[in-house]
Amino acid sequence: KLKNELVELDKKHFIHPTSNMKQLQEEGPAFIFTEGDGIYLKDVEGRTLIDSLSSLWNVNIGHGREELGEVAKEQMGKLAFTSAFSNWSHEPIIRLAAEVAKWTPGDLNVTFFTSGGSEANDTAFKTVRHYWKINGKPEKKKIISRKKSYHGVAMGATSATGIPEFHTFTTSIAPDFYYVDSTIESLKEMIEKEGADTIAAFISEPVQGSGGVNLPEDSYFKEIRKICDENDILIISDEVICGFGRTGTNFGMENFGIVPDIITMAKGVTSGYAPLGGMVISEKLHKEIYEKTEGNFWHGYTYSGHPTAAAVALKNLEIIENENLIENVRTMGKHMLEGFEWIKEQNKQVIDVRGIGLLGAISLERESADVEPVTPKIVAEALKRGLICRAVVYDGQDTLAFAPPFIINKEQMDEMITIVNESIQAVL
Ligand code: PLP
Repeated sequence: KLKNELVELDKKHFIHPTSNMKQLQEEGPAFIFTEGDGIYLKDVEGRTLIDSLSSLWNVNIGHGREELGEVAKEQMGKLAFTSAFSNWSHEPIIRLAAEVAKWTPGDLNVTFFTSGGSEANDTAFKTVRHYWKINGKPEKKKIISRKKSYHGVAMGATSATGIPEFHTFTTSIAPDFYYVDSTIESLKEMIEKEGADTIAAFISEPVQGSGGVNLPEDSYFKEIRKICDENDILIISDEVICGFGRTGTNFGMENFGIVPDIITMAKGVTSGYAPLGGMVISEKLHKEIYEKTEGNFWHGYTYSGHPTAAAVALKNLEIIENENLIENVRTMGKHMLEGFEWIKEQNKQVIDVRGIGLLGAISLERESADVEPVTPKIVAEALKRGLICRAVVYDGQDTLAFAPPFIINKEQMDEMITIVNESIQAVL
């Protein structure tokens, strides 16, 4: 009864993010979640499901951690919200900015906060353009991103996103955004064609998430760093998924041996317990910006520094550290990949398995983009068996993506692998 009531209200009043609206009108939501505990979610029909994507690659410490609720309650009781606008400040955001600096590599020690990843990326795009402008090069404003990248849905973030489907929703995207293939040659050609003196920054996820968990070639980012240095192009690492431990290191780029000029982050900084993101810049950039900017840094959101979200983030980072969760990411990541290899041996249609830390994927054969993908059917089978995972079918792919919570244990990982294997075999 409750379910029917909620389904009707959902259909009538609620627009789901990134959804098939027609299908939702016909079928209603597939599940209505009510509770979470560790790696599990429960829905209104009483089903328990393994959340193998940490919801949206973000509930890294797992569901139902009451300490986060307690810390939010305490902060709300004291000072739920005030702004850090202009020359105001408050302790939670100061402490969080200082804490983030302990996690980030190099001299990336100064943070501007947002409510999420899209805003963080838009902030980075405006900041790099501002940076070149105050350095007497206002024509350096183009942003280069990679095909298959996902950077969010604010106007700049959606324009940088290299998954074409995201551009079909709006009739125009922002100017000065360009896309390259994930090869060194492609970036070189782009620089040659557009001219380094027109390019502000190159943005990339260390490992592309929504685009299908695509790992770079070993030397890729080192060569990118070299080319960008030679051409005065800043590197923005979009660590919204990879940041704070997902790939087994604090930040994803550490796996590939480079320090970017700017990091954007969100998701894992609070494990989703409060909406928060940010742009972290180097001390060098920060100094240049404050010394050379006349008047205001004309950019800020109401929630650029939310006290309650900051308190939650601090607690979340404390938990990740105190419970050695990044070490568990590495150990369980190995088990996950071994499990995927085993799945590949069982199923000849599996053409590739890959992973780094607790970010992984299984790709199935699909002859062309015109052929119907099978992974949506596998996802449906997995649901019947009690597991949530994601199908990535952009661009002719047929991929299953996984990003389980950092707290997953061996037994739970084995269960996840077993269900995935059974679901693949049920469909193929
Ligand atoms: N960047 C990456 C790599 C992401 O995966 C996402 C979200 O999935 C975003 C940016 C956008 O973040 P948000 O949805 O918080 O705006």
